[in-house]
Amino acid sequence: MNIERRTSRMAGNRQPSTVNRQPYDIVIRGGTLVTPEKVFRGDLGISGEKIAAVGQNLSGRKEIDATGKLVLPGIIDGHTHLDTPIGVSRTCDDFLTGTRAAAGGGVTTVIDFTIGSPESSLLEDLANRKKDAAGAVIDYAFHAEVIGRWKTREGEFAEAVRAGIGSFKFYTAYGRLGHRSDNGFLFHAFKELAELNALAMVHAEDDEIIESLLSRLQPGDESSMLSLPRTRPPICEGSAINQVVYLAEETGVHLHIAHITSAAGIEVLKRARNRGLPVTGETCPQYLLLNREVFAGEDAPLYSLMPPLRTPADQEALWSALRDGTLSLVATDHCAFTRKQKKWRGSFMNLPYGLPGVETLLPLLYSEGVAGGRIPLKVLPRLLAEGPARIFGLYPRKGSLNIGGDADIVIFDSEKEWKISTRKLKMPTDFSPYEGRTINGKVIATISRGEVIYEDGGFAGQVGRGRFVRGDNR
Ligand code: MN
Repeated sequence: MNIERRTSRMAGNRQPSTVNRQPYDIVIRGGTLVTPEKVFRGDLGISGEKIAAVGQNLSGRKEIDATGKLVLPGIIDGHTHLDTPIGVSRTCDDFLTGTRAAAGGGVTTVIDFTIGSPESSLLEDLANRKKDAAGAVIDYAFHAEVIGRWKTREGEFAEAVRAGIGSFKFYTAYGRLGHRSDNGFLFHAFKELAELNALAMVHAEDDEIIESLLSRLQPGDESSMLSLPRTRPPICEGSAINQVVYLAEETGVHLHIAHITSAAGIEVLKRARNRGLPVTGETCPQYLLLNREVFAGEDAPLYSLMPPLRTPADQEALWSALRDGTLSLVATDHCAFTRKQKKWRGSFMNLPYGLPGVETLLPLLYSEGVAGGRIPLKVLPRLLAEGPARIFGLYPRKGSLNIGGDADIVIFDSEKEWKISTRKLKMPTDFSPYEGRTINGKVIATISRGEVIYEDGGFAGQVGRGRFVRGDNR
């Protein structure tokens, strides 16, 4: 059955049909429903954990008045690092505090990462990570991090796919930390994943160019945060994407490029997509909204992240790629540390890397993107829900307002203006890269599988109510 067609027919039907007479558990009444196909006024009916109807004049045992508000599919943040060890530090949140903050930002599913190692199997990594996630209040899936890949480990991908993993994360960088997969590893891994119809997700930066630039640093350069963008310029991104695109073409694997930052990276992605290759890409709010100027400022160490921030011209290229469909989704790469954890220790290489963001994804993208006139409203559910759901194998259970899907919904007041302040945000960090920024639009309520878990600033969802979602529906 074509659910989308049925949904739109019902929405266009002004007479209440017989289907509409039964009372639903919850009806979200009179909101502006936002889907990638169209934006329209209507009611949404929920039965149990599922979306049961989209139409007019639905009646429910509980009704939520959404007049004048936007009703969107729950946001899927396809790239988070909750409760994650990074070098000597560990991120300052866990799956309870992190997913609670996420719910406050309209996020109903996070896709986090297993913690890979050369010693442990992918199945062991998954089992450990499920324990870490026990307190989650929203649903979660995992990308399996692949570290140390050799012949004796063949067969692990198939086991992981059977256990509900749909995507596997590789690094072309971080050779110093032992995280890098060389082209030999990637070639064989991509072949296996292609046969399993699984996704290869790649952190693409050219380690050899980075190392050559690091070796050319002058005495004193390490004490400047500007050395970060200088030693990881856009050519690193373009070069690495180009390499893995070629391997993907030869092996037939579906390739997804994480956190693209530059016009150079976009150019290579666009070339691949124009040739019809199954290659997709994401960017993050920080690359759209911040640029390398912050590395010259007083707070520079707080902005440590890899890949680094770029120039205003790169930011423009990313926005343009969101509009024209070159980029398929926006995720946060959420990786939260406190100011204390980011204390300057004399070198740009001696910092935990990553920025917080899961709670501010939707408000920032609505405010700067839609209200700012850079992307149309209809693009929002594609970039933040349907795109990640389809690419990471969660669709059609997650990612849309389609009948039969999980009732993961966010009600958003596009008229409400507020200022970002870490004191008011729920993420357990005292730093936000967007502190003081005025935001147009605020999350009013978040519904996860038919349960209102966030409403008017308060959380209702029980600790540990979140469930593991299989990511293999591709
Ligand atoms: Mn990441």
